[in-house]
Amino acid sequence: MRFTVLTLFPELFAPFWDHSIIRRAIESGIITGSAVNIRDFAVGRHQVTDDRPYGGGCGMVMKPEPLAAAIRAAKDRCPGAETVLLSPQGKVFDQPLAEALAQGEGLILVCGRYEGIDERVGSLVDAEVSIGDYVLTGGEVAAMVIMDAVTRLLPGALGGADSAEKDSFADHRLEHAQYTRPPIFEGQPVPEVLLSGDHGAIARWRRESALIRTLLKRPDLLRQRPLESEESRILKRWLVEIQDLVTSEHLPGAGSLPGGESGR
Ligand code: SAM
Repeated sequence: MRFTVLTLFPELFAPFWDHSIIRRAIESGIITGSAVNIRDFAVGRHQVTDDRPYGGGCGMVMKPEPLAAAIRAAKDRCPGAETVLLSPQGKVFDQPLAEALAQGEGLILVCGRYEGIDERVGSLVDAEVSIGDYVLTGGEVAAMVIMDAVTRLLPGALGGADSAEKDSFADHRLEHAQYTRPPIFEGQPVPEVLLSGDHGAIARWRRESALIRTLLKRPDLLRQRPLESEESRILKRWLVEIQDLVTSEHLPGAGSLPGGESGR
């Protein structure tokens, strides 16, 4: 996967390429990353990349000519790449979109600044993507978010063969609760089953934990695919246990719900 970021601030990407999973993915040839300065495509002695908005108003708008030249040069270098404009007005980025983008050969990520880019550049991009309903100062952080999420999905990018498959959202479910040492932290013990060495029981506990925390934190995900029969059994059993707790007027404290869920 070839990532090309078009930006006025290419220096922001040096630490991004140089750490953790992204760095290892570059070293093992799974991805390449380059940040291209849009200013290099601006003509004239001052290489101006922005101008006042037509119609008046505050702020500056990124000029179309340098952006168009930068996009065309990036497409020439990687003809199979998808061109994505980062924009708060785009389709909201999520795991299915990350999965779709991970299927491609490359991504050209166009970062806006100021009041945004001249509308006419839109005809040169394949998609407009937002990382959420808020306004950032520039598209660079959004580009990093997308590259990070996409890289995790590429074969071999994560250490464990199946880590990404078990991550939250992979199967319209959140991931199960995680614990590490010490076995008791500030009075809160690790669920006993995780210390048992019984792999079957641990797998069942994790499944239950994942399902119940999805119900508690993101019930909308449960509607995105039908429940498997084992999942409906878990949920029914859990509801019965909750009903028992409520009727016995013994309300659960943190970590005492079935599946080790605290309801956070
Ligand atoms: N005036 C624009 C508007 O209200 O739609 C916002 C411009 S914003 C200050 C500057 C740039 O940051 C945008 O062109 C875009 O590239 C990037 N950006 C801001 N918010 C974003 C978001 N939620 N997702 C992706 N990119 C974003």
